[in-house]
Amino acid sequence: MNPLIGIMPLWDEKKDSIWMLPGYMDGILQAKGTPIIFPFSDDQEELKRLVELCDGILFTGGHDVSPMLYHEEPLDELISCCDKRDKLESTVLQIALEAEKPILGICRGIQFINAFLGGTLYQDLPLQHPSEVPHRQPAPYNIPAHSVRILEGSPLRQCLGIDELPVNSCHHQAIKTLAPGLEPMAVSPDGLVEALYMPCYKYLWAVQWHPEFSFRTDENSRKIFRAFVETMR
Ligand code: MN
Repeated sequence: MNPLIGIMPLWDEKKDSIWMLPGYMDGILQAKGTPIIFPFSDDQEELKRLVELCDGILFTGGHDVSPMLYHEEPLDELISCCDKRDKLESTVLQIALEAEKPILGICRGIQFINAFLGGTLYQDLPLQHPSEVPHRQPAPYNIPAHSVRILEGSPLRQCLGIDELPVNSCHHQAIKTLAPGLEPMAVSPDGLVEALYMPCYKYLWAVQWHPEFSFRTDENSRKIFRAFVETMR
C-alpha cells in the first residue's frame, strides 16, 4: 500500500472555501504516495486520530505566518495572515512531531515550521532584506528565478548530488533566525535559508521554493517528493 500523506488545506476567505493546488496532490501521487486533504478542525482528538492515520504530513504554501507566533506585531497591511491555518497547523505539527511522523514543508511550510519551533521570519523581504535576487517571480512558476547553494554534508546534497540548484521563488517572507534544532540545507545568493532539516528527527525537511509547480518538468523537484514518500516505506 502506498503511504498516506495528510496535506494542510488552503483557505479562500472570499469564497469561504477550502481549496488545493493540484501540484501538491500530483507531486505526492507521482512519488507513489496517497494524498488526503485535512479539514479545518479544532477538535484535538479528531486531529490526533487523523495524524496517526497518516504516514507523513505536508505543510503547504499560502498565507503569511502570523508574526504573533514569533512574538512580533505585524509590520503593516502587507502582512496577510490566516488564523484558521495557524491554529490548525500548530495543532497538527505538535501532534506529528510527538508521533514522529515524517514532515515536509513547502514555502509557507518552511516559515511556519521555523516560527512554530522558535525561529523568526522577515515579515517582508523588500522592506527588511532588500536585494537583487528575485524572490517573488511572475508566472509561469515552474521556471527557475534564482539559484540556491546546497550545503555540503546536508541530506539534500546527498539526495540531489549537486551543489547548486536553480529554483522558482514566490515568497515575500523568509527565515530570519533558525529555530533551535533546525539546520540549513540550502542558501540563496543573498544569504536566506531556503531549505532546512532537523538532524535529530526521523525526517523533517522544508524548502522555500515550489517543487509542486516544477515537478512535471524538473527531476530535482520530483526527487524531493520521492525522498519524502520513500522514507515512509
Ligand atoms: Mn527565493
